[in-house]
Amino acid sequence: MEVALPLLAGVLGLLLGSFGNVVVHRVPEGASVVRPRSACPGCGAEIAARDNVPVVSWLLLRGRCRACGEPISVRYPLFELTCGLLFAAVAWRVGASWLLPGLLLLAWLLLVLAVIDARTRRIPNALTYPLAPVLAALLVVGALLDGDPAAALRIPLAGLAGFAVLLAIALASPRGMGMGDVKLAGVIGLGLGALGWGEVVVGLFGGFLLGGTAAIALLATGARSRRDAIPFGPYLALGAIAALLAGRPIVEAYLATSGLG
Ligand SMILES: [Zn+2]
Repeated sequence: MEVALPLLAGVLGLLLGSFGNVVVHRVPEGASVVRPRSACPGCGAEIAARDNVPVVSWLLLRGRCRACGEPISVRYPLFELTCGLLFAAVAWRVGASWLLPGLLLLAWLLLVLAVIDARTRRIPNALTYPLAPVLAALLVVGALLDGDPAAALRIPLAGLAGFAVLLAIALASPRGMGMGDVKLAGVIGLGLGALGWGEVVVGLFGGFLLGGTAAIALLATGARSRRDAIPFGPYLALGAIAALLAGRPIVEAYLATSGLG
């Protein structure tokens, strides 16, 4: 197995994880993700390029601002590391395919939206509206370049299917599930549709299973009451990531045990 591709994707993931930290903090506030440059929330000192190297800078600075010594949350390097590892895993799983750029965008978007939803209980349209068409275009073109017109057709269909299924659930039980989750399911359908219908089913069903289990656990332990909204997006994202990395073996194991395969 070629290791150059996962390694390269991992480095790209670290860098985009660093940008993802900016997106996670600024997009919910409607702030620009380009300007101003990142600054220390303690003293306002701009963070120099040498102190902005993903993960490494945080370790070298021992988690403190160079100017004022204010602690920098471990969540920043952790997010970068997670993004780097996820990108490497996706590249490992997908290999040398033209679908890879689109699937890396999917992975990045899932991570960013999961963290934003967990923090703010919102899935911002400012991300889904512009990035869903970019994702669809990257994947459809990728599928065509791979010589797989069936996948190119399946991508928009699976996107619509994911959107429609969650829309039906959201309309049937408005509490808990919002339009943000419906749009996220559309994005997940687009992305996993590039791989196959089996992956789409595993991803969405996995998300429901995780979200439902978490909701029951939170209610049962009294950590949340029935009145609290439990953000569903992070579980949908987690299910989709699982399907992205392991959907094929899960589908094959199911078909084998059910005797359908
Ligand atoms: Zn500072």
